[in-house]
Amino acid sequence: MAVPFEWIDTHTHLARDYSRAELEKFFEGGHCKGIWLHSIECFKNSPRHCGNDEVLKIAKLYPEFVHPFAYCRAEQNPDQIRMLKDAGFTGLKFIDPLYNYDDPRFFPFYAEAEKLNMPCYFHVGCIAKKPSSDLAFPGLYSSPGRMKPAMLCTIAAEFPKLSIIAGHPGVPWSEEMTTALWYYPNIRCTISALTDYKWFIDALAGGAWDGVPFYEKLMFGTDFAYGIPITFDMANEFAIFYKIFFREAGKTMAWGRHNQDFMINNARKLLENLS
Ligand SMILES: [Zn+2]
Repeated sequence: MAVPFEWIDTHTHLARDYSRAELEKFFEGGHCKGIWLHSIECFKNSPRHCGNDEVLKIAKLYPEFVHPFAYCRAEQNPDQIRMLKDAGFTGLKFIDPLYNYDDPRFFPFYAEAEKLNMPCYFHVGCIAKKPSSDLAFPGLYSSPGRMKPAMLCTIAAEFPKLSIIAGHPGVPWSEEMTTALWYYPNIRCTISALTDYKWFIDALAGGAWDGVPFYEKLMFGTDFAYGIPITFDMANEFAIFYKIFFREAGKTMAWGRHNQDFMINNARKLLENLS
């Protein structure tokens, strides 16, 4: 019997020179069943990242397939969240914040997101090589120390109904990620970009205090820019890598039989629970 193999990529971006034909390859007969498309507006001239308007445009063209996450600066007026929700965004994306993620000055923003049932997706951990001169807003710079996994605990405690997703395992603070997942039912984590696979194997075998196994809290992502030719092959290759990884590295482990939870079910359930 063929093993089912489907996936949702929960961490993607839109390449500035995307083509619709390249995007359409993914949902014409492929195993990819959807993408969570993250807008980024804080990087100047990044070929890998489109901003809110372009991301929303693509999401409206492919509403069953593309779930848009709006770039947010949480120091702004929280009323903008209602506008983003009404415009059609599924969730919110935070990266390179002006203050620590768990700074109380951001709380009104998170409160509004909780009220409107919009999942918040946070970059955590080290981030690649951008000097402040490459960032578009005053006061921003690439500060991994403002984006540590333990800061999500503060937010989860203050806003227990807010759906919080870490965009990466949070290297070099992956142990913080483990404890955040253990303590808080409303924190989940996408495995994408820099990943400590020794940590990942341990995490897959772990579970939270409430009995939820971590393989139900971890999700597949690539952090790739979609819409350009190289991405189709790279993303499919990555998905196949995880299929084999679960089958072989997890052969004697309970988590080895839960590849489809990681690849698609957990992401699908998270969105279903919002509606
Ligand atoms: Zn990203």
